[in-house]
Amino acid sequence: MEKTDQFRVYKLAEKIFCVANKNPYRLAMFFLRYQEFYESNNPDFKGKQFTIVKYMDWYANKYGKGLFSYPDDFAGFNIPQTIIKDCIRTVTDLNEYDIQMDFLDHHLKCQDIHDGYIIGVPYYIDEKKPNSILKHEFAHGLYRTSPLYRASIEHDLLPKVPKKIKKQCAKIFENYMYDSSVHEDEMQAYFSTGILTEMRKIPGIQDIVAPFQKNFKSFFKDKFMKVNGSDKYHTFNI
Ligand SMILES: [Zn+2]
Repeated sequence: MEKTDQFRVYKLAEKIFCVANKNPYRLAMFFLRYQEFYESNNPDFKGKQFTIVKYMDWYANKYGKGLFSYPDDFAGFNIPQTIIKDCIRTVTDLNEYDIQMDFLDHHLKCQDIHDGYIIGVPYYIDEKKPNSILKHEFAHGLYRTSPLYRASIEHDLLPKVPKKIKKQCAKIFENYMYDSSVHEDEMQAYFSTGILTEMRKIPGIQDIVAPFQKNFKSFFKDKFMKVNGSDKYHTFNI
């Protein structure tokens, strides 16, 4: 295995960790089971026991036109740490990615982190030039781990978004296979860090997203990579 296939875990903020791998297939397979257990739009998978092969069969037929295109369709990932134990308890076809996911959970717990948030990106992080996938996933992490950030979204920003725009976004999210339980979280992440092409056609959208972006920038500046130097990342192998 080449060195570029190694997983790195970065500590991005107090409770936000990022798993990075330059190989998008390996990154996707690392997250797949946990991502779908957490928020699959298919009730047969969300919160349920399922095998990877069963998921691949379903996905290839439903979305991949007969191919398993999942690693190509999704670039970034995000899951709450608490989902790892809930999911792994149900697994009957344990593989090496599960073992590493369990190891990651254990590693965080050894640092007394039990309610962290884990994001995934298909490249090693350049903290001076964080790209849009990383920022998008970091916005999910802030939403789930920073009460102040969440309050700014739920109390100040989301209530100002017209219902019509929320409905238009919900339609777009359905096409992107997002479960309705994460629509608000996806809306804040896209509005804060960069919108989808389909959203750009919504009249007045730029004025709606501007305060989200301003809000995110201040939190990003304040929280991103503000951690102890030697603590910044660990490398592990599968
Ligand atoms: Zn997202």
